[in-house]
Amino acid sequence: MAEEGAEDQVLLDYVEEADDTEIAETEAPKQKDRGYVDVHSSGFRDFLLKPELMKAVADCGFEHPSPVQHECIPQAILGDDLICQAKSGTGKTAVFVIATLQQIDTAPAEDEVVVLVMCHTRELAFQIQTEYKRFCKYLPKVRSHVFFGGIPIKQDRNVLSGDEKPHIVIGTPGRIQVLANEKSLKLDKVKHFVLDECDHLLDNTDMRADVQAIYMKTPRSGRQVMLLSATFSKESRKVSKMFTHNALEIFIDNEEKLKLEGLQQYYCQREEAQKNSKLLELLDSLEFNQVIIFVKSTQRCQALTKLLVDQNFPAIEIHGGMNQPERIKKFTEFKDFKHRILVSTDVLARGIDIERVNIVFNYDLPEIRGKRASTATDEEKSKHGTDMYLHRVARAGRFGTKGLSITFVATSEDADILQAVQERYEYEIKQLVDGDSIEQSSYMNV
Ligand code: AMP
Repeated sequence: MAEEGAEDQVLLDYVEEADDTEIAETEAPKQKDRGYVDVHSSGFRDFLLKPELMKAVADCGFEHPSPVQHECIPQAILGDDLICQAKSGTGKTAVFVIATLQQIDTAPAEDEVVVLVMCHTRELAFQIQTEYKRFCKYLPKVRSHVFFGGIPIKQDRNVLSGDEKPHIVIGTPGRIQVLANEKSLKLDKVKHFVLDECDHLLDNTDMRADVQAIYMKTPRSGRQVMLLSATFSKESRKVSKMFTHNALEIFIDNEEKLKLEGLQQYYCQREEAQKNSKLLELLDSLEFNQVIIFVKSTQRCQALTKLLVDQNFPAIEIHGGMNQPERIKKFTEFKDFKHRILVSTDVLARGIDIERVNIVFNYDLPEIRGKRASTATDEEKSKHGTDMYLHRVARAGRFGTKGLSITFVATSEDADILQAVQERYEYEIKQLVDGDSIEQSSYMNV
């Protein structure tokens, strides 16, 4: 837990801080290489969770803790701070959901928000609340609520002033800050402060400022801070330390270990004008449960969805240009398997867990867009491209299941990003040439 003292000063200063000192790789206890037997020899029972939580874990069908759960839960349930990097789809969410629910009162005081979880997108916030609801099944007095922009703030105020005030608040920083500033949302009783996909929250200076302002409204003492992400930039790793005190640090220092085991990764060389016909051909020939196709802009998202629908592929779209209720509606429908093809911008690239997605297309490779594009260095662009590649393709092959990703390479910049991905994570992305077929059993259970 963070100590009282120099914290204000440190946090106030850190945005301007020009300290380039690298965080020593050896500082963090390394995640041990655990084999199947080792991991599976421990059970959730060993964590001594309260019976209500154990029952919910069993109902979720969780038989054994994943490696990240095994490493983190024992200390996190004791209230220790945590900085955790874990591969996408390996059960990070359950780490903080279980850790907070284990510590929360079974019948909490009426008006107190004791858990605050923030993340960068509305869909992820929504998904996290769904996970809280699953695990609160036998804790009927524990209430959670999700707050994010794009819906009338009056609704949020009503919830916060009503009879069913939440004890667990999940949200995006912009809306949380507005609610906290106007004091509809009181954060002075928060005991657990969680940032999911925290490197995105901390690398983006606007979001970081919001997060920092919100953090300052939570109590200094007796507060547990948990910061989790699949990727950590050097900067976010440094900033994370300033939010925590004596945190248990779980980092995957060797980026090669970020490799997603069950995922077959291919690339396909195509001129821009030939991407559509190749995509249609692949959608026709491949077997899939659900597919996500990532594009780089809202406009391209709309255009590609229209094209697919016109070609009798019933696709839906999700992007930042849609209104919020529509975005959540589409997201929920897709999660509920009401649609099989989703075209999306990077709003769904991180953290989103949709069980049946077994193919991801990178129709466009990720790139920095908007204001940051003109100032970003080549190194930042490459880091962004490779991080986002990993986040996107990890939407398929969740929790060790099989999956397939196919990336279109149209320009020399695309080729550079793909090369950087292969060098950084030390694996080969196979080329898919015309006439090749991909063995169905390699990417889905048949
Ligand atoms: P996450 O990485 O938190 O997005 O989790 C990925 C998926 O794995 C989610 O669908 C979880 O419900 C599932 N999951 C997490 N932990 C376990 C576990 N111990 N056993 C089985 N499934 C799990």
